[in-house]
Amino acid sequence: MLKGIAASSGITIAKAYKLEVPQVTIEKKESNPVEEVEKFKAALQASRNDIEKIKDKAAAKLSAEELEIFDAHLMVVDDPALSDEVITMIENEKVNAEYALETVANNYIAMFEGLDDEYMRERAADIKDVTTRIKYHLLGVTIADLSMIDEEVIIVAHDLTPSDTAQLDRKFTKGFATEIGGRTSHSAIMARSLEIPAIVGIQGVMQEVKHGDLLILDALKGQLLINPDADTVAEYQEKAKKYAEEVLALKVLKDKETVTVDGHKIELVGNIGTPDDVNGVIENGGEGVGLYRTEFLYMNSNELPSEEEQFEAYKKVLAAMNGKPVVVRTLDIGGDKKLPYLPIEPEMNPFLGYRAIRLCLDRKEIFRTQLRALIRASAYGKLRIMFPMIATINEFVEAKSLYEEEKAKLVAQGIAVGEDIQVGMMVEIPAAAVLADEFAKYADFFSIGTNDLIQYSMAADRMSEKVAYLYQPFNPSILKLVKMTIDGAHSQGKWCGMCGEMAGEPDAISVLMGLGLDEFSMSATSILKARKVATSINYAQMQEMAAKALKCQRAEEVLDLIHSTVK
Ligand code: PEP
Ligand code: MG
Repeated sequence: MLKGIAASSGITIAKAYKLEVPQVTIEKKESNPVEEVEKFKAALQASRNDIEKIKDKAAAKLSAEELEIFDAHLMVVDDPALSDEVITMIENEKVNAEYALETVANNYIAMFEGLDDEYMRERAADIKDVTTRIKYHLLGVTIADLSMIDEEVIIVAHDLTPSDTAQLDRKFTKGFATEIGGRTSHSAIMARSLEIPAIVGIQGVMQEVKHGDLLILDALKGQLLINPDADTVAEYQEKAKKYAEEVLALKVLKDKETVTVDGHKIELVGNIGTPDDVNGVIENGGEGVGLYRTEFLYMNSNELPSEEEQFEAYKKVLAAMNGKPVVVRTLDIGGDKKLPYLPIEPEMNPFLGYRAIRLCLDRKEIFRTQLRALIRASAYGKLRIMFPMIATINEFVEAKSLYEEEKAKLVAQGIAVGEDIQVGMMVEIPAAAVLADEFAKYADFFSIGTNDLIQYSMAADRMSEKVAYLYQPFNPSILKLVKMTIDGAHSQGKWCGMCGEMAGEPDAISVLMGLGLDEFSMSATSILKARKVATSINYAQMQEMAAKALKCQRAEEVLDLIHSTVK
């Protein structure tokens, strides 16, 4: 049995599908040219078949524009210039096919990467992708491909990038287990919104698990069992059934208000990554959307999404929520979220680097396009716009003035805009939390991003399982920053929410309520559990408890206090 960090609840039993990036070294060998040319042609054909197959499978999910990437890949396979050059090298130099392919491909890649034109640089990525596939066929290495999975599996990987996670097919992906990552890495967050049970940060998982092994993934406890016996399987089937029943029992709370026994009301809303995720929020009784991470719209595309495309996505969410508030966060790219078509120079510390609002204030054309799409969509619901990673008053003021400019232009064109758009900010950098009372003079609301706030306060990379112990939402230092933020908002009559993962932790609801938090935004699947907690506690008592928590020294003491107060 291996242990890791439970990242998305559930229990699941299925075969392992290992997602491996094979490490191959290619040596130059003297070879028979006739055989090598044959081999090369067969590998080309096999690669062509693969790409056709992937394209067919993806056709149902992707737009015509997104499918073009496969056509680009087919063009590489069919490019006579490339294959002729490889064949000539095999024949002239009597070398092995993989060596010839690698040499020729590297020349092409270097040439395209060196060009100024962005479109041409992207072709380098296509060549790399396709020639790697051909190379693997030549070497007889199996190619793992998420979109090719067509049976129920648990994916086992060193890491899943957010875009890998976005490709997962819920029908076949019964769970995933990764070697690295923490509770707030984006693949974990995506797993929760897709409702796929997941465990991350399992050391040694790639070494211990073989492709096809039977696995039990207990993402309630963070345990992965490899090749269990029949009795254990039966035991876990029973546990999985019980868990499903518990989830079902919470459904009675779906249409209830979230009011404590002494009449204090809070709002429970959902975090979403794609417009389709609103269904989960509605089904789980969410009272709005507290965080729409728009970067996934950018990540699931091969180029910057147009204003029209964005408008349609935002409108869809606003209309689906039918007048309930929707907080849309402007582009938060950088850190662990990258856009292949928007290269950012490598940085030593990407989480401390050029990301989110910093990038948007630098690349204003990208930001303005998004703002226009949002303002136009505001006519269809109750829109709140939120800027990520605000560190200084000047950043907020500048971002807000760009919004005002775009809004004024649209109004002058006679375009309908919503009447009560609010413009707020995430508080996820300690500097903003400390100065919250001043920020509240400018922002209409705050939403506390504890995933980053904790990472920056504790100086502990949220992607690293080695320092995962420093992810301490209950540490009194974090509670004090949260308190400062809430008090800052209230001092100016503004509201304060939280959209980091802490907001959805059942143990955190009571203390955050006691600190005065107004809105709690979480994965859709956490909402009903949170409602159960919130509706069974007493606000006045939680205020007293929160005051005591602020005087504690350690996270453990705060948790003990919560467990002894909230039964
Ligand atoms: C956060 O930092 O808490 C947050 C909600 O934003 P993200 O997880 O997308 O960085
Ligand atoms: Mg953040």
